[in-house]
Amino acid sequence: MKYHVRIIQKQKGSEWMFDLSKDKLIEQIVNPYLALSNLSINGITVEFEEINRLEIRRTENPMKQIAYGIKRRKSAAKKLQEDAGVTGLSPVVVTYDEAFITGNDVLAEFISERPISKATEKRYKDALSKIENYKRIAYRPHIKNVERKHNSKSKIGGLPYLRTDTDWPECPNCKNNLQLFLQLNLNELPTNKSDGLVQLFYCTNPDPLCESDCRAFFPFSKVVACRKIELPGKSSIQIPKIEKLFEEKEIVKWSEEFDYPHSEEWNQLGINFEIDDDIYELMYERNEGVPLRGDKLFGWPFWVQSVEYPKDRINGNQMSLLFQFDSNVNLSHSFGDLGIGHLTISPKNPNELAFGWAC
Ligand SMILES: [Zn+2]
Repeated sequence: MKYHVRIIQKQKGSEWMFDLSKDKLIEQIVNPYLALSNLSINGITVEFEEINRLEIRRTENPMKQIAYGIKRRKSAAKKLQEDAGVTGLSPVVVTYDEAFITGNDVLAEFISERPISKATEKRYKDALSKIENYKRIAYRPHIKNVERKHNSKSKIGGLPYLRTDTDWPECPNCKNNLQLFLQLNLNELPTNKSDGLVQLFYCTNPDPLCESDCRAFFPFSKVVACRKIELPGKSSIQIPKIEKLFEEKEIVKWSEEFDYPHSEEWNQLGINFEIDDDIYELMYERNEGVPLRGDKLFGWPFWVQSVEYPKDRINGNQMSLLFQFDSNVNLSHSFGDLGIGHLTISPKNPNELAFGWAC
């Protein structure tokens, strides 16, 4: 089996592709990386300078000893740190069918193919059938870049619908206005339509860094505003105090995809059977039987750390997913180190909304 390797050196705009055997992959890429030295393939040298993150997106590969998948991701990362003998390296280990090493200007990507046995396919189908009942439909947003306008359309970034000319939420920490992350016109949703708008605002001010000063990753942070509002008429206009206002991306269409609960959530749902690691990894590779990453409406949350549904502050009920934001997909924002954020809503109390993220 050969591994397909792509190396991009962004600063110089260079790109090379190679097919390497497993041994060569270890010898020429994994080991040099761990030693943080230069990498030389077929006579081309790529300098790994200031590498600050390593992502391994596959387990059935030479890196198996150091990366095992989401369940063991933290210990794998720690082990990698020890193996590499370096500090300041913060590896992210996940389980997709690729691996890449990222530095300031270097990205190496490994893509491999491996044969799957019939017995494995059968175990895979069995596992899927057991969680079939928990399948939900998630809706992916399709966006179009538009000129910024105060209106009631569903959008990511840009100008919000405002009821008055002072309606734009302000950050209590820096006194700037909060950036619009999301506006959903509930009448235009693909399902569960209702009246009004849901708006999510978030302080993106870098100085002071309200996001970390006021712990915006926890639900109900004061530098985040989520609200459900009615539409009394045409939007008011307000010139916001925001250093760099996001571009406006109108959500023009939704497309359906199947979505499944994260294994972290299985216990709580009463799913009590074990899936073998190799099957679980295959599910992630095929993006089937697992929660979807990326931006989506409804469906199941992709939990990066653990299950973190907020509770309604009035009735104590567990909130459910309204919208998931992945870092830098449609939104020009990274939640920490490429984390994922969740806008949740209280099922019986739709005025209770919360946003939190983890990485
Ligand atoms: Zn602020």
